Amino acid sequence: MTLDPIRSAKMKSTYSGGIESSDLPRLLDASAGFCSDIQVQFSCDTDELGTVIINGHAQGEVSLNCQRCMNEFKQKISVEFCYSPLTAKSTEDDIPDAYEAVDMDENGYIAIVELIEDEFIVSIPFFPMHDVEDCSKEQDFTLGNIDESEAERPNPFAVLQNLKK
Ligand SMILES: [Zn+2]
Repeated sequence: MTLDPIRSAKMKSTYSGGIESSDLPRLLDASAGFCSDIQVQFSCDTDELGTVIINGHAQGEVSLNCQRCMNEFKQKISVEFCYSPLTAKSTEDDIPDAYEAVDMDENGYIAIVELIEDEFIVSIPFFPMHDVEDCSKEQDFTLGNIDESEAERPNPFAVLQNLKK
């Protein structure tokens, strides 16, 4: 699915539907092996300054491996977005901070499915964990004990740095 944002904004188009999980290979890769279809709603419009905006939200579910008990669990993810396409005449500086500037391809389309897939991927936590009450490691895990007993634990920020590479 691609979207012509200029035309859609003129027509004040709205969309409500699903993205099939088979169209979300990168999200599936980022999960522990399962991602649901994603439900999407958005509307296209121009704001009072004439900026084209695509405003909407999406919900889905992925499987993740709990980093506390190492068991798999399902995590619901919902995202909100407000995109504004970069046109030949506008640069990122022209687009108000409230909107996320997105590229159009040479035909004037934006890759809305990939953009929403990106939103889901960045919503996946670095250290996914069950809610405490659902986690099988609940009984022998407290942050305070670990802090006191592991004097030489690695700097948590160093761990984050490694994950980003
Ligand atoms: Zn767990």
